[in-house]
Amino acid sequence: MEKKIWLSSPHMSGKEQKYIEEAFSENWIAPLGPNVNGFEKELAEYTGVKNVAALSSGTGALHLALILLGVNSGDEILCSSFTFSASANPIIYQNAKPIFIDSEKDTWNMDPELLEKAIKDRISKGIKPKAIILVHLYGMPAKMNEIVAISKKYEIPLIEDAAEALGSKYQGKMVGSFGDISILSFNGNKIITTSGGGALLSDNQEIVEKARFLATQARDDAPHYQHSHIGYNYRMSNILAGIGRGQLEVINDRVNKRRSVYNFYIDLLKDIKGIKFHKEPNEDYFSNRWLTAIIIDPKETGVTRENLRLGLNSYNIESRPLWKPMHLQPIFSESKAYVNGTSENLFNNGLCLPSGSNMSKEDYERIEIAIKKFFK
Ligand SMILES: *Cc1c(COP(=O)(O)O)cnc(C)c1O
Repeated sequence: MEKKIWLSSPHMSGKEQKYIEEAFSENWIAPLGPNVNGFEKELAEYTGVKNVAALSSGTGALHLALILLGVNSGDEILCSSFTFSASANPIIYQNAKPIFIDSEKDTWNMDPELLEKAIKDRISKGIKPKAIILVHLYGMPAKMNEIVAISKKYEIPLIEDAAEALGSKYQGKMVGSFGDISILSFNGNKIITTSGGGALLSDNQEIVEKARFLATQARDDAPHYQHSHIGYNYRMSNILAGIGRGQLEVINDRVNKRRSVYNFYIDLLKDIKGIKFHKEPNEDYFSNRWLTAIIIDPKETGVTRENLRLGLNSYNIESRPLWKPMHLQPIFSESKAYVNGTSENLFNNGLCLPSGSNMSKEDYERIEIAIKKFFK
């Protein structure tokens, strides 16, 4: 069997080792230290957001974001339905209630019209939602003008889940710089990785300082261990931040590579009727192309996305259905959702194709042969 081609695998630059060695030589193995400070500063410069806290995961960052916005038991949180469950799980950690919002067809992200409808409906029932969790799926920026305007109009804070979208831009401005709070993930399959990690970003310095405080067990300022808050162990270690610094040096290259993977598939599939891509709607949108996703019309192509997935799998090439929307997940079956059928349809017919920035020429050739044979 030929070696597996993964959907998205870690891609080290070789620059990570230098930072890790520095940490070892100075014995900064403990959490916190110069790499954490450096990584936070460099992330702030790259994203244009003033303050960054490096954390142990994107999920932890979302959890802290909700805590920092005062989300408590029984509060309602508006959340993109078409996403990975990590976007929604922290709502449950706070005993709050997710209210899922379906997607629009242009970006596949949260539908602003449905969002406003949901807000009006909740307010008419006497409950004003406490926050909006907005996801930029597969790196595609959401309709930010509309979403930000709704967040401002109803004074509901916006949390941007940019876990999949580092390097993406909307109207030339980095995704992750629109929300009151934003989060990033550096999990192993993301566009850059620290093997595991995340970050919380905000222009509000107080919020980010409080995130650092809560993420290090909420120690009061005293020589002994004293606590007036419940704390968490959510900080990033100095070793992993070293990996992050090496990765961030090459982020632009990684975005370019992923975008060229997308163009490879466009070219490869251009003559096959019934295949649609996750297109940037217009020049306002710049996607990091974390994963290339296609929609297969079974009527026009005569095949389903599952046929293609299994076909690729027989060549040891990994592909994966799109995220199953949260409103269709067994665990959230009791949750309220405002739906229009878009994400369900995308899930039923969509497939993510191998999109790693480290795919070799041979990998591209194998994918090309497998796809051409499949559609012959
Ligand atoms: C990966 C991901 C997360 C979670 O990040 P972790 O660092 O794995 O905890 C959250 N939201 C989305 C949309 C993701 O893709």
